Amino acid sequence: MKRRDLLKSAFGLTAGLAGFSVMKPVYSADDWVEKGPDMPNVPITKVTNRCYYFLAQDGEPSPSNQGFFSNPGFIVTSEGVMVVDTGGSLQIGEMLVRQIKTVTDKPVVKVINTHIHGDHWLGNQAFVDAYPDVEIYSHPKVIQQVKDGAGEFWVGFMSRNTNNATAGTAVTPPTKELHGGETIKMGDTTFKIHYLGKVHTDSDLAVEVVEDKILYSGDMMMRRVANMADGSFPGSISAMEELANMDIKTFIPGHGLHDGKALVKEQKEFFEVIYNTVGKYYDEGLSDFEIKPKIEAHPFMQKVASKWPGYEHTIGRFVSDAYHEFEMSLFS
Ligand SMILES: [Zn+2]
Repeated sequence: MKRRDLLKSAFGLTAGLAGFSVMKPVYSADDWVEKGPDMPNVPITKVTNRCYYFLAQDGEPSPSNQGFFSNPGFIVTSEGVMVVDTGGSLQIGEMLVRQIKTVTDKPVVKVINTHIHGDHWLGNQAFVDAYPDVEIYSHPKVIQQVKDGAGEFWVGFMSRNTNNATAGTAVTPPTKELHGGETIKMGDTTFKIHYLGKVHTDSDLAVEVVEDKILYSGDMMMRRVANMADGSFPGSISAMEELANMDIKTFIPGHGLHDGKALVKEQKEFFEVIYNTVGKYYDEGLSDFEIKPKIEAHPFMQKVASKWPGYEHTIGRFVSDAYHEFEMSLFS
């Protein structure tokens, strides 16, 4: 994004609230830099001899983590490297390229972006810079939403939340489509692509590494409470049922530690507690803010979900998103 666009959007944000003179602008000329600082190396988590990922320590972007708060992954095959998600900035992408080279001298030949949220694909730029022939894939809805302006939104989001540490990041969208159901063979490794409908967003792809029984699930599951505004509660519940029935041993989520089927089970229960409780009390005439404490009092929420990053600040928004989805379902 160009500087004048940043300033324009900063003005738009503040002017809508109160007198501009009393508001601190989001950016000032003093803050402006052409390119933010390098991203320090994040250690690689090795899951099997071919499957790896970079574990995000934080649940949200901040100046101190420079926008690194999701889990990019990579798989080393006999015919090169497949990358699943590239992080949220040019600098993060460059760090991934650097770190992958410590594991293998094979080139990155394919990248899959699991969904539209920018923390999963704004690092694409670094892979195109390092490997000009790399093929970048996503669900076609990601490509369309970037054409409609989602990329600029995410560049601005990352910049605002990191005090401009991600400066220099340019929207570099995927260009090749995957719809789900495809099998991709790369030498000794077989990938299966899964699309389960509207789950965390309407563009979620999961990448199965068949030989290792591993699934890179994107944000369809994670022990974190962050954003359901683009997703579906019933869609998530049925997706978790499908994932639980797959021949998978290890799930690598979009955020947080990898785990076995317990991760799917917990994620399913989380969405069920919210959606079923909303449905029950909706019928009794309660509003979303009256239902929220009943959900928070549920033993699963008390014992499990309340320990996840983001729970305290975001559970209210999840309840109102579920409430609206439930209400809409009555009229469709
Ligand atoms: Zn997401």
